[in-house]
Amino acid sequence: MTDTSTIIDGRALRAWLHEFARRVAENSDHLTALDSEIGDADHGSNMHRGMTAVVAAIDADAGTEPGPLLKLVGRTLVSTVGGAAGPLYGTLFLRMAAAAGDTGPLDAAGFAKALRAGLEGVAARGRTEIGDKTMVDALAPAADALEARLAAGAAPAAALAAAAAAAAAGRDATAGRVARKGRASYLGERSIGHQDPGSASATLLVEAAAAALGTGADGQA
Ligand code: ADP
Ligand code: MG
Repeated sequence: MTDTSTIIDGRALRAWLHEFARRVAENSDHLTALDSEIGDADHGSNMHRGMTAVVAAIDADAGTEPGPLLKLVGRTLVSTVGGAAGPLYGTLFLRMAAAAGDTGPLDAAGFAKALRAGLEGVAARGRTEIGDKTMVDALAPAADALEARLAAGAAPAAALAAAAAAAAAGRDATAGRVARKGRASYLGERSIGHQDPGSASATLLVEAAAAALGTGADGQA
């Protein structure tokens, strides 16, 4: 039976953010290794610093509404993560916050809408299209898959799992592309054969959503 009851409230979003922080910490060295191949070897440490600050900020905040919570996340990332990824991930969460509004929990469709708004914000801020070998190459197929599965009547858990698989496929496809944005673009054709670090961290974000949001508001199976 289709599960239309999934409520994505502040508590669920906190579970998602904790899960993303955990996965970023676990994969920090890997993200930095990817960035050492086509960038400046700081993506893992950038994201780890940012998500450590996010966890501290949301743990200290008593608010329960998704919009203000997502706004806090975006502001924290902008102020703690340098380089390209900070403003871009910050924009993702700030646009998600705006889409979520000031009051009330989201349902799965509302979360998909917020993710779409976040993706559009990143693409506009980064002047990036799909295929440029950036985080957008993971986020765009994830947003597409999430919307398509929900529209077809899939349960939120299945739709989020499909989004995570789509993000991973998008991430893997970046290896075959020439980087057109960010530091990796300085390498031109020599960027081919290397996976984009931002697409790898963005995949962790979507995989964390599937793990934490797919199973219910408290993240428990
Ligand atoms: P920096 O490149 O400043 O060292 P990071 O290493 O933390 O910052 O992040 C690099 C990632 O940021 C890239 O792998 C790519 O996914 C993403 N990125 C860089 N420029 C853009 C852009 N214009 N649009 C979207 N994503 C971008
Ligand atoms: Mg870097």
